[in-house]
Amino acid sequence: MRPKESFTLETEELSNHVLTVEDPQGVRNFLLDSVTYSLGRGMGNSIILRSNLVSREHATLLVIAAKKSSCFFRIIDGRLDYKRSTNGILINGRRRFSHVLSHGDEIIFSKDTRATYQVISVIANTPKINSSQNNISERLNLTTSHQTFDETESFELYPLQSIPDQNLSVYIREIINQFISSPELNPQPIIELNLIGKILYLNPAALGQFPNLEEMRINHPLLQELLEQIIPLVNPIRKTFMREVMIRDKVFEEIIHFMPSNEVIRIHIFDVTKQRQAAAIISYQIDHDVLTGLPNRKYLHEHLIEIIEKLEDKKQRFAVLFLDIDRFKLINNSLGHSVGDLLLKAVSDRLKTLLKQGDLIVRWGADEFAIVAKDINSIGAVVQIAEAMIQSLTAPFDCGGHEIHITTCIGASIYPDHNIDVEALIQNADMAMYKAKSEGQNSFQFYVPNMQEQSFQRLSMENNLRRAIENDELLIYYQPQIDLITGVIVGLEALLRWKHVSLGSVSPSKFIPLAEETGLIMVIGAWVLRQACLQAVAWQKMGFPPIQIGVNLSVKQLQQKSFLSSLNQILEETNIDPHFLELEITEGIMMDNIEEKIVLLNEFRKMGIRLSIDDFGTGYSSLGYLRDLPIDTLKIDRIFIEHLAHNKHDQNIVASIVNLSHSLNLIVIAEGAETKEQVDVLRSLGCDQIQGYFFYKPLPADEIEILLRSQGITKPNIN
Ligand code: C2E
Ligand code: MG
Ligand code: MG
Repeated sequence: MRPKESFTLETEELSNHVLTVEDPQGVRNFLLDSVTYSLGRGMGNSIILRSNLVSREHATLLVIAAKKSSCFFRIIDGRLDYKRSTNGILINGRRRFSHVLSHGDEIIFSKDTRATYQVISVIANTPKINSSQNNISERLNLTTSHQTFDETESFELYPLQSIPDQNLSVYIREIINQFISSPELNPQPIIELNLIGKILYLNPAALGQFPNLEEMRINHPLLQELLEQIIPLVNPIRKTFMREVMIRDKVFEEIIHFMPSNEVIRIHIFDVTKQRQAAAIISYQIDHDVLTGLPNRKYLHEHLIEIIEKLEDKKQRFAVLFLDIDRFKLINNSLGHSVGDLLLKAVSDRLKTLLKQGDLIVRWGADEFAIVAKDINSIGAVVQIAEAMIQSLTAPFDCGGHEIHITTCIGASIYPDHNIDVEALIQNADMAMYKAKSEGQNSFQFYVPNMQEQSFQRLSMENNLRRAIENDELLIYYQPQIDLITGVIVGLEALLRWKHVSLGSVSPSKFIPLAEETGLIMVIGAWVLRQACLQAVAWQKMGFPPIQIGVNLSVKQLQQKSFLSSLNQILEETNIDPHFLELEITEGIMMDNIEEKIVLLNEFRKMGIRLSIDDFGTGYSSLGYLRDLPIDTLKIDRIFIEHLAHNKHDQNIVASIVNLSHSLNLIVIAEGAETKEQVDVLRSLGCDQIQGYFFYKPLPADEIEILLRSQGITKPNIN
């Protein structure tokens, strides 16, 4: 029984409602364009369910008007007069008596009978559907498949099916379902066009998002150059491809599928702007440093590879420079990391101003920057760049109210001179930078070919030295200092020795600088001091007259804040009388923070410790500071003694040093006297003491013991 009031729904609505019924008789689609429907096995129902398992009058569909342009259907179990069906209905697997249907709902009437409810939105500019002459059912034959599209037809025609009480083949049903569920309701725009660029179909999302698609057609940015690209797809091997289109600030990904059966191109469009933006942010973060905003080492690698690939003339040169801030750790530790961060930013800003167009600056690591300088036409140009950088960083930095002075070191390698491999170029520049560091502050150094070997050696040496302390490979030799008038041993200088199992005896001139660079000198220096004091006390306890012990101090040790307290602790522990300890310092101590150092040296003096200036004449040029230093002894460096016997010039220098020292009440010791002639000249010049091979080489403690025992009996022959 068709409903009595069989009026058609006003077609201004934008949605159409389809019920697809599946029962033992097959699949049927019903366009729901009436206000009520009765469903059941009885022949009087408007939708007959052909199964014995359903009730005669199993359910009722009832339209509910929603907004002006839309409506819904409510399904009710049984009849409108509340007479329920025998077995009820399940909506999406749940038993319901009454339910407002929504798209995709599945209604189960019985084990063998079910229906699916679908809502199809009609595109806004579809010609107004009129129930009589433009009935959707009437258009069915035209549109069940794309293959029947006529080029002359308006593209707005699109399939929508309703064939009450008529079976459709499964094939058609699939097409309907595919069409209903995917393009129409798809929130992603879908466009279909043919091979001559005529738009055949736009889904609602396409119309909504790109209103000028219809007007611009193939000239719309979404479709530009598409036909040229599609041609290879007509060849049956490949049917799908993807491309990206930028429209203003948006990025769209198009998945383009060519359907050869009807020669239709279907394009699915995805707005991937957010993904691309996120990807861009992530990729920025991956190859940039957060603090300075500079590119990072990953970027540098890629940049160098790119430069090399692009170099037209392979003989073109570019330089990789590595710049490191000296003592950055100290700044960070003493002023705090936030000040350290400010400094790094300020350094990077200053360096940036020195770059030419096309050059690059990268934050390589904590306080290391890498600079790529392109179009280098001479080695001199690199030197100039490095010097300009070092120079620009010497002006003080104001970081959070702290005035900070820094020094830097730069190493450089040049493409292709030093290598053509990116990795090697970077490594070479880094190595050169380390070399520069060992040369002192504000140094610049080019890579030289055997640096790698040297640095390997340095590395293994460093590891060995670390182990030397644990493995008891360090020991102290003592070299006697002889009074030139009495011939008596008046002092002993403690000289460190390193006996390595396979390296043998390693000279302190090799490992002391390494220990200073690596900071190992703090531990080693303290060890030497303790051992020397213990030894001096031991000798005194053996009954030898107290003898002065000289211990070398590194400038690095003196820079250590805790040095004074650790010195005090050693004196206490070893119980040495500080008057018998002489600390040897070099002129290097006067290089910076002179006032601070003088305060510290005065502290030593107050404790009773004697002080000497070692290797005098090799370092600081001004003699004026000698007056300000609280020292007792001056040790003339061996280079002035070496040629003393025959070199008048050296004799004059030594004479001046002796006179100067005496005028300042200092004792003068000459280092490295090896011959009688040298000793004679030194005596004639008034030198007080001698420490040299002519008398004694540095000796192990047990040999010194023998020597001391014989002291007094066998004084060295000083004449
Ligand atoms: P230095 O303090 O000037 O020590 C004197 C150096 O001259 C010693 O070298 C000694 O063996 C050498 N020498 C003495 N008389 C002669 C001579 O007649 N002819 C020649 N050719 N050489 C002579 P050594 O022991 O190799 O030490 C070298 C340097 O290593 C020392 O120079 C000192 O600066 C440093 N050093 C040694 N031990 C220590 C230590 O415990 N701490 C620190 N910081 N430095 C140390
Ligand atoms: Mg010394
Ligand atoms: Mg010396």
